[in-house]
Amino acid sequence: MSTTETPAADAAHEPQSYEFRAETRQLLDIVIHSLYSNKEIFLRELVSNASDALDRARLEALTGDGPALAEDETLEIRLVPEAEARTLRISDNGVGMSRDEVIENLGTIAKSGTRELAAKLKEAKDAEQAAELIGQFGVGFYSAFMVADRVEVVTRRAGQDQAVRWVSTGDGSYTLEDTHRFHRGTDVILHLKPVDEENGLQDFAAPFALEGIVKRHSDFVSYPIVLEATEPASTDDDADEAETTAETTAETKTERTLNSMQPIWTRSPSEVKDEEYTEFYRHIAHDWNEPLDTLRLVAEGRIEYKALLFLPEKAPFDLFYRDSRHGLQLYVRRVLIMDRCEELLPLYLRFVKGVVDSSDLPLNISREMVQHDRHIALMRKWLTKKVLEHLRSLQKDDFEKYLKLWKEFGKVLKEGVSGDPENRERLLPLLLFPSSAEPEKLVTFAEYKERMKDGQDAIYYAAGESYAAVESSPHLEAFRDKGIEVLYFTDPVDEILAQSVPEVDGTALRSVGKGEIELGDEEEKKAAEEKLEERTKDYADLLESLQKSLDDHVKEVRLSRRLTTSPVCLVAGEMDMSPHLERLLRQAEGMDLPKQKRILELNPEHELLEKLRARHGENAEDPVVGDYAELLYGQALLAEGSELPDPMRYTRLVSQLMTQGL
Ligand code: ADP
Ligand code: MG
Repeated sequence: MSTTETPAADAAHEPQSYEFRAETRQLLDIVIHSLYSNKEIFLRELVSNASDALDRARLEALTGDGPALAEDETLEIRLVPEAEARTLRISDNGVGMSRDEVIENLGTIAKSGTRELAAKLKEAKDAEQAAELIGQFGVGFYSAFMVADRVEVVTRRAGQDQAVRWVSTGDGSYTLEDTHRFHRGTDVILHLKPVDEENGLQDFAAPFALEGIVKRHSDFVSYPIVLEATEPASTDDDADEAETTAETTAETKTERTLNSMQPIWTRSPSEVKDEEYTEFYRHIAHDWNEPLDTLRLVAEGRIEYKALLFLPEKAPFDLFYRDSRHGLQLYVRRVLIMDRCEELLPLYLRFVKGVVDSSDLPLNISREMVQHDRHIALMRKWLTKKVLEHLRSLQKDDFEKYLKLWKEFGKVLKEGVSGDPENRERLLPLLLFPSSAEPEKLVTFAEYKERMKDGQDAIYYAAGESYAAVESSPHLEAFRDKGIEVLYFTDPVDEILAQSVPEVDGTALRSVGKGEIELGDEEEKKAAEEKLEERTKDYADLLESLQKSLDDHVKEVRLSRRLTTSPVCLVAGEMDMSPHLERLLRQAEGMDLPKQKRILELNPEHELLEKLRARHGENAEDPVVGDYAELLYGQALLAEGSELPDPMRYTRLVSQLMTQGL
């Protein structure tokens, strides 16, 4: 093809070959060679991309980030099948892509989580499992290669003159060259694979097939999806004559809009089928799964708005990334004005997807305005309340579903307890924790409180790195002994949560590893107190010596009320950070915290300590006492999963001791 520019001047006019990024290549390979039985969804993905591109063109024009749209311009998606050439073109006059954007968007799978997907795919046992994984991640644009053996993209970015053509057969590489396109927008041209009904390849160049697919998957798309079909001229004459004049009869071009374009949240709930919600969800959430749950909300009164919200089935990979994309779509009277409005829900509900349509906002509201808008603030308050109430009823009415949600998003919800004091009372009942009472189950605070023993005056929790670490912690010994339930706080956010919840419905929340622990009824407590006092007298000298030896490491050595089998443990002061939280803040947040000294507690009934006390009584200067102090401290550290300050020295002491023992 000749161009008006001088070809020598610019190498970009020649098709240049590029390699796909490794993960992308791997994914493509699987998309092409397996798998996904429902091949027609390629059209849903391409239409969805076209619709996104149209949204962006409109929004960029609206905010002044892009060129204004012509007044008489219709934003639309066109499907143009060519039966003979066996091609299908999907065109839009959306925002288009620059050369760099093409490389970025089509040469790599830009989605976060791709690397994880690629890694998981390597482990997949068979094509079926691979298909399931892909279904979970979605491959968007690349699904085109399920139905086409060659894909061409011609695109021109809004505001730019130069267009580019991207071509790939889905093997390791693609080519790029400069080209011309009359207007901004994108054409995706599929060179269709041969029809193979058995493998899900219908005739995707057949108008009726396209119509069916659009109706099934993309009916709600808010731009017209126009089918341009070339059909033989209809004729009233009989077949014979039609045949004889076939040479001269021009084919007729017909144009038809295939979708109703009706926003799904404006339709009566009883009319909308589950599949329709699902397809809409997939479109806005860029997810291939079904939503776990759907919520329709209507507020009437001073401000009117509707919302259609979805709870996803799976957490996206970027849920905990700082720059993860989230936010609801904001519409004003059915017109999208903001794609990801983060102000409509608090951060701890960022997993909720959906749209909010308001009749009271100006059409040209900017990001800055949104941050200070009173309506938006009211909507946020209302939406938050509604979502939390919904979660509560889900928890009551369909616990299994709630549990699924909790497993994916519980960690995020917990952030709200410290982050949103206003809704704390709504959030607390939603929380679930593993517990010492029922190893396989997760329990609520309410369930815990129902089972509290007579005289028990606190909800106890044990915080640690993992279930196993907490389960074996010496801090739990006395609780086990007395049959007192302990909640396990094993998520990083749990301790921060605990710090902002001093009590739950009037019952204190206390760590088993902090402060003094007094268990049992009044009488038992009193008896224990007296006994401890007495024992402390017995142990006073030893405690003092140990304290002296360990002065650099612990702030106090005292007798314990929480140990029954272990000789020692370390506890924190009532107001101190636990070592677990300290480690987390150091590692994850890179905080430079001063080292906190803790308290070493001894079990006065333990044989080891009885013997040590006796030895110390005989000779308070015995060097063995100093060694034992270190050994006891080391043991306490190891028992809670902490690192030893000097492992070499510790091993030497143990070896020495072992030798003596033989
Ligand atoms: P997703 O839509 O979830 O981002 P896709 O694989 O479907 O993922 O698309 C990848 C990217 O390619 C899109 O994010 C978009 O930037 C770009 N893209 C795809 N199709 C078009 C199009 N028709 N117009 C403009 N950009 C597009
Ligand atoms: Mg897409």
